[in-house]
Amino acid sequence: MAVPIGPVTTISKNKLKTMLDSSLEFENDWRDEFKNSFRSTHKLHQFLGFEIPKTDYPLFIPVRLALKIKELGQQSSLWKQFVPSTLENEDKGLVDPIGDLVHSKPGQLIHRYQNRALFMPTNICPVLCRYCFRKNELFNEKELFEANLVETQKYLLEHSEINEIIFSGGDPFILSDEKLASYIDFFASIKSIKHLRFHTRIPVILPSRINQPLLEVLKKSSGHFETISIAIHSNHVDEWDQEIETAIMKLNRLGLQLLSQTVLLKDVNNTAQDIVNLMNKLVKNKIRPYYLHHPDSVKGGMHFMVPLEEGRKIYSELRDQLPGWAIPQYIIDRPDGRGKLPAFNPESFNFSGQFI
Ligand SMILES: *Cc1c(COP(=O)(O)O)cnc(C)c1O
Ligand code: SF4
Repeated sequence: MAVPIGPVTTISKNKLKTMLDSSLEFENDWRDEFKNSFRSTHKLHQFLGFEIPKTDYPLFIPVRLALKIKELGQQSSLWKQFVPSTLENEDKGLVDPIGDLVHSKPGQLIHRYQNRALFMPTNICPVLCRYCFRKNELFNEKELFEANLVETQKYLLEHSEINEIIFSGGDPFILSDEKLASYIDFFASIKSIKHLRFHTRIPVILPSRINQPLLEVLKKSSGHFETISIAIHSNHVDEWDQEIETAIMKLNRLGLQLLSQTVLLKDVNNTAQDIVNLMNKLVKNKIRPYYLHHPDSVKGGMHFMVPLEEGRKIYSELRDQLPGWAIPQYIIDRPDGRGKLPAFNPESFNFSGQFI
């Protein structure tokens, strides 16, 4: 099935467009796209025409994204987010920057807040983001959590205060339709679970995945829960194109709640204008701005760090250009696993309070 990367790329891109109406063919296509992604510095070097440094972390970039990276060049937000850099080999930073391991429970769950828990069915992503807060776990050979639905069920039955399951990972939409449907059915069978949420980067990285079978799985599920939300991870308007907007429109037609998640990143989106442009793009696509994350102190990603004071200045400038309903919540995850805190201090741009 693997198609060599090279001239074929253009064909597959055109093919993608013509296949928009043909869900059967289209169905096979996202897997092929996924499989054909760049995974070696050598191949990426050949394609981009620039030396790619070796780092301690693997690389994974779908061809459609690599095309955009090539077009926008080395100084672009896309290059910085996805192409390996020598700065990743620095020793600073934490392996588990938000204390996930402290709160991991049997059966792929992370239970930090009373009424909701993260469910991690996979550690595979459609792309490997160089700033990823889980880069030291995800890119690791060993599985972070072992699949064990018996344990998950036992935990949820004992903790009926949990009413929302948040699929995270990895990227939950990388699962097959069957696997995803079976997990959703499993949670639908637990009476206390009323809300379902998916945290995903797929819509802006591999929009071909938002195909008819996936839409049907989501549609069928909607009867079993009070709400189904999809929190879409996007950091810059440069990630966007028409195919992505079409995929988002299909999700919107299902009547799901679409939310956004953005990470503030040095040299990627650390100006008010970058954030304003992105929020306008999200709003236009009927995605509600939800979170703006302060960067996590992750080992291998410290070169993306923005001082808290700078982040607060950027955030304070948003209100001038965005209505309140288009402003995301600016938050910081505490490294000890105690969870999210508001990162904006309206009284001062200086650091205050005890985060660390
Ligand atoms: C962020 C997070 C959630 C979701 O929190 P919301 O504020 O509901 O978006 C849930 N569980 C864990 C462990 C988290 O880190
Ligand atoms: S999609 Fe999310 S989990 Fe996956 S590499 Fe990017 S930031 Fe990390």
